[in-house]
Amino acid sequence: HQSARWQQIAAEAAEEQSTQNEPVTRFADLATRGLVHPNIVNTLTRQMKLDTMTDVQTRTINEALSGVDVIAQAKTGTGKTLGFLIPIVQRILQNDPTLAERARGYKRASPSDIRAIIISPTRELAEQIAVEAKKLVAGTGLIVQTAVGGTQKKAMLMKTQREGCHIMVGTPGRLNDILSDPYSRIRAPQLNALVMDEADRLLDQGFTAEIDEIKTHLPDPEEVERQNLMFSATLSREVVDLVRSTMRPGFHFAKCVDE
Ligand code: ADP
Ligand code: MG
Repeated sequence: HQSARWQQIAAEAAEEQSTQNEPVTRFADLATRGLVHPNIVNTLTRQMKLDTMTDVQTRTINEALSGVDVIAQAKTGTGKTLGFLIPIVQRILQNDPTLAERARGYKRASPSDIRAIIISPTRELAEQIAVEAKKLVAGTGLIVQTAVGGTQKKAMLMKTQREGCHIMVGTPGRLNDILSDPYSRIRAPQLNALVMDEADRLLDQGFTAEIDEIKTHLPDPEEVERQNLMFSATLSREVVDLVRSTMRPGFHFAKCVDE
């Protein structure tokens, strides 16, 4: 009967609609749903041989891709790095689709092309994040640089000025140093994303003043529509204060620990 047929079509459409609204849990589906650039998804599935997201990844990637700020509470070893790298790389490519092309082409990338800054408490962690970020953006033309203490500042500045920079990963002291140095030429006038990894450790190690000062060197977050992502194993009062002073209204809290 005709009406039974229409009912069936309506039921199928409703089902399709509901699966569309479910969070993505497999990396491959980020591409089939058109959420993340296929090149990035290929790197995840073919080069990195990843299949299913971890809990914190599912909960941060899906939310962050919608554009809201996210604070995630999760333990070490749960895959937080890709939890922030995937959405920020997608945001950069989406906001300025020809950015990477311009960087590769005749016009040299500028050290002021920085679209994302990732703040990490230690040099080792910052370097690990940079390694993962470089893997993820391979083939896109995006450029990743590190700004960490214990290395030659001058060499770092020259490398960044020569190669350009879209994603800067660093420790608070050195990041603040280069952003405030009038001669460094390293600025972030079009910053799309700010990530604070291991926020509890950043605060425990006494980096509050540096983080506050870094923020003063960044453009008005409203004007550049800066997305803020924060990760922490614990939610101390200090972390909550940092969330309050950083996150835009409507931010999402992904709690991925049992208490
Ligand atoms: P965290 O920052 O939470 O301590 P990392 O981002 O350093 O964790 O990831 C820990 C390890 O897990 C890394 O070796 C990473 O390559 C691996 N990993 C990340 N995501 C996945 C996943 N979805 N499936 C399998 N392994 C993963
Ligand atoms: Mg980590």
